[in-house]
Amino acid sequence: MTEIPKDHPRYESLLAREKVAAGVKMGITSIQGLIAQGRGESFDYLIGERSTKSALYAERAAVAALLLAKNPVISVNGNVAALAPDKVVALADVTGAKLEVNLFHRTETRVHLIIEQLKANGASEVLGKNPDATLELSHDRRLVDSRGIYSADVVLVPLEDGDRCEKLVEMGKTVITIDLNPFSRTSRTATISIVDNLTRALDNMIKLGVELKKERKEELVKLITTYENKRVLSEAISEIQENLKAMAAEVEY
Ligand code: ATP
Repeated sequence: MTEIPKDHPRYESLLAREKVAAGVKMGITSIQGLIAQGRGESFDYLIGERSTKSALYAERAAVAALLLAKNPVISVNGNVAALAPDKVVALADVTGAKLEVNLFHRTETRVHLIIEQLKANGASEVLGKNPDATLELSHDRRLVDSRGIYSADVVLVPLEDGDRCEKLVEMGKTVITIDLNPFSRTSRTATISIVDNLTRALDNMIKLGVELKKERKEELVKLITTYENKRVLSEAISEIQENLKAMAAEVEY
């Protein structure tokens, strides 16, 4: 991995790029994952590379849902494994969620490498190697574990494709997504759409997990029953508009 100087103004973004590129070299991330990262980066620019108020509101509700779930599962793909293996393991620990590898561009080698990467970061069990159930989808993301995604009541699917998100919602699950694009099919179909960068979102959610674990159950239930996802999407779009206006004002002539 190329060393990025810490004082570089775009340090975080360049580091993330290096991590995804390293993931491709290690065989963890598919080559298409580079395109997904680039698209995410462009939306992060528009959002102002910060966790917005609406993102934090969605993150709080998401953590409450994970903590209250009977069988919470976090789905991991190649980009997540390259960018934040330590954070995804930490979030699973704090919320009591299972980890399951689920890939669009699935190969047995990639599944194995991702499981090893998560284990090297402290995971004890990772599902996904021997899928024994299927979702009604025509691509490899249909292959799931009956103890994991298939039977989960709450599932966190960071960097998801719209197709599977829709299917999981149809199955009656609470689906939490992390996707910087508020216009994607994923963001528009999820139960809780977190419009934030994966790394920032997971950091916030780990902290929230520690905090909300101390709350009474009724408080967590309230966070979910009062939660409005349409409001999150509409505010995320307004935040982009405001940010663009401010940037346009800077270059006005
Ligand atoms: P959809 O089917 O939901 O319309 P899509 O085809 O755009 O989505 P993919 O390319 O499968 O979706 O998924 C990548 C999505 O993840 C993109 O919307 C991109 O903005 C987002 N994304 C990529 N990298 C990150 C990241 N690091 N943090 C948050 N979001 C990201």
